[in-house]
Amino acid sequence: MNFKPAKVVWAGMPGSACNLNCKYCYSGSAKGERGKFRFPLEHMLRSFAPDRFGGPIFFGGAAAGETLLVEGIVDFTRGMLELGHVVSYTTNMTYSPVIDEFCKFPDAMKKRLQLDASLHYLELKEVGKLNTYFDNLRKLKDEGISIALFLCITEEYLPHLNEIHDLCMQRIGLLPVAGMTRVYSSAGGKNSGSLLPEYEELVMKFCDHRQWDLQKKVYGQKRNEFCRAGEVSINLSLETGEYTKCWGSSGRMALWEQLPFSGALRSIRRLPGIGRVAKRIIPLKSQVMGNLYDLEQPIDFKPMGQCPFYDCVCASYLCWGLIPGFDAPTHSRTYFQPEYVSKEIFEFMDCHLVSK
Ligand code: SF4
Ligand code: SF4
Repeated sequence: MNFKPAKVVWAGMPGSACNLNCKYCYSGSAKGERGKFRFPLEHMLRSFAPDRFGGPIFFGGAAAGETLLVEGIVDFTRGMLELGHVVSYTTNMTYSPVIDEFCKFPDAMKKRLQLDASLHYLELKEVGKLNTYFDNLRKLKDEGISIALFLCITEEYLPHLNEIHDLCMQRIGLLPVAGMTRVYSSAGGKNSGSLLPEYEELVMKFCDHRQWDLQKKVYGQKRNEFCRAGEVSINLSLETGEYTKCWGSSGRMALWEQLPFSGALRSIRRLPGIGRVAKRIIPLKSQVMGNLYDLEQPIDFKPMGQCPFYDCVCASYLCWGLIPGFDAPTHSRTYFQPEYVSKEIFEFMDCHLVSK
């Protein structure tokens, strides 16, 4: 049987505390608060019952700080895996107590758990945690938990890409997946660095550049096709249970957005100067579609249609085929090396949810 997700859920995990303090951190996480769940675990897990989604889901969670610091994450993860879902977290890979607990899960559950390890190389070097990072990766791999390495390409890393490449190959045999840096506002994300040819050359030489190639194609391009985000995927606040069709500020349309000339109004909102006035007169409506924790209501899966952002907020969303006909490799083929993920994980994420 083909093991394929019924839906994709991208979840913002509660809290913004971090055990590292990277200089470029946009959330100033070292001073943040450790995340807690607002709802009882049992209720949260009932809300994730597979029949509400039509089957098992891909659950991708990331906090504004270190994800594995969220209180109760081990029990939540165990519960999600017991329900048959696939769980993936973004982590700085240095919070060993939670990683050790994950390693104690039964094998059948470990096969459906995957961790994206962001490599904050200079910070790890400064605080002496490079060994912790690689030891944890090795531990997870040996235990059959799937891993991928990620490196955000900032200017300060450029002189070190060569040594990062050598270290990763030596310690784990896996290259970091290069990613562009982005800044976000309510209108979407924009690349924060410029694509200088010297960046390009170094990334091609020293990193796994499959994601980079996709991001070059996606970022900075307005999407005008019909997008199925909201129908096959949702963005969720795990703390409150509120969900939107895509990313933070998209969901139910304002009345004006349903009018035949809404495209023209949207263009006016994007114009410099007059756009600011237009945004006040024709605002987007509050965008929450519903609350996952309201068990009385079915989850409201409706397609976004016209993307409201500058460009696709996150290139990886398109790996799930949200825009039928848009040529993007699957998640597995953009991020994974088959020897570092379980067969189940590779197969689950090697699909487009919407066929062309
Ligand atoms: S690991 Fe991530 S959240 Fe923590 S300080 Fe570094 S960039 Fe910020
Ligand atoms: S194009 Fe990207 S950002 Fe826009 S609605 Fe679709 S998935 Fe979301």
